[in-house]
Amino acid sequence: MNSSDLKEEISDLKVKHNAIILAHNYQIDEVQEIADYTGDSFGLSKLAASTDAEIIVFCGVLFMAESAVILSPEKTVLQPDLQAGCPLADSITPEALQAKKKEYPEAVVVCYVNSSADVKALSDICCTSANAVKVVNSLAERQVLFVPDKNLAFYVAAHTKKEIIPWDGCCSIHHKVVVDDLYKQRKLHPDGIIVVHPECRPEVTALADFVGSTAEIIRFARETASNKLIIGTEIGTLYRLKNDNPHKEFHLVSEELICPDMKLNNLSKIRDALLNKQPQVNVPVQTRKEAFAALERMLQVNDY
Ligand code: SF4
Repeated sequence: MNSSDLKEEISDLKVKHNAIILAHNYQIDEVQEIADYTGDSFGLSKLAASTDAEIIVFCGVLFMAESAVILSPEKTVLQPDLQAGCPLADSITPEALQAKKKEYPEAVVVCYVNSSADVKALSDICCTSANAVKVVNSLAERQVLFVPDKNLAFYVAAHTKKEIIPWDGCCSIHHKVVVDDLYKQRKLHPDGIIVVHPECRPEVTALADFVGSTAEIIRFARETASNKLIIGTEIGTLYRLKNDNPHKEFHLVSEELICPDMKLNNLSKIRDALLNKQPQVNVPVQTRKEAFAALERMLQVNDY
């Protein structure tokens, strides 16, 4: 079946099952094209909670679909390819977090949303890459155990007086960017502005002109007067950036910025998910309630 037939079938199935398709900004172009909404992980989960649709096809990786379930447990959440996971989220287990909490009994646990439902459930409060600094600075505790992304933890540490204890995890994709990549791009495009994600190494974020979450990068690209941007986040973001700013020039800071997990969903898997209402993502009730409490506490700090 060719891609336009598939798109038509997906569109019919969506209507038949009262479903919507949400696609993360890192998904392949074809998936972003047919999505009802594209965005970052937490923005999409909030959208999932506010829609009237009964079925959410979440095209991202597992922790994102779990967040959608946590925020809207009454809905059916499908992930077209269940193999799509996240090495960052997998870098911490609930058992390891429990052990670390014992090592730092005074510390408050701040958990980046790029983590499993189990880890969120053991945390005091969640944060996104956009609000991490604000969340940490809102807390009464002096000591913060920040999980699981060490690079985001370093970024927060540079913007707070609190003691940050970073978990030793990282996004294997953003961590690949090194300062030499920035120097090379500056040489190639001396008039370009470098924008990077805070999941990048601290020496990389220190050199960039702008540091922000994917959503913030998309907003910045729209608002900046500069017509040439060097992008330090996952390649899929270029789809949205180019669509939003057809007259601007975008260059990826490194060709390594491709997340293989994010490329697993495709049109035929979306069609199959809608046909079979499978694979579904579920979160046990107790975990869901505890993880929800950590997310809700974040929302009280920042009306995301
Ligand atoms: Fe995980 Fe990084 Fe891939 Fe996002 S880009 S899913 S944080 S490995």
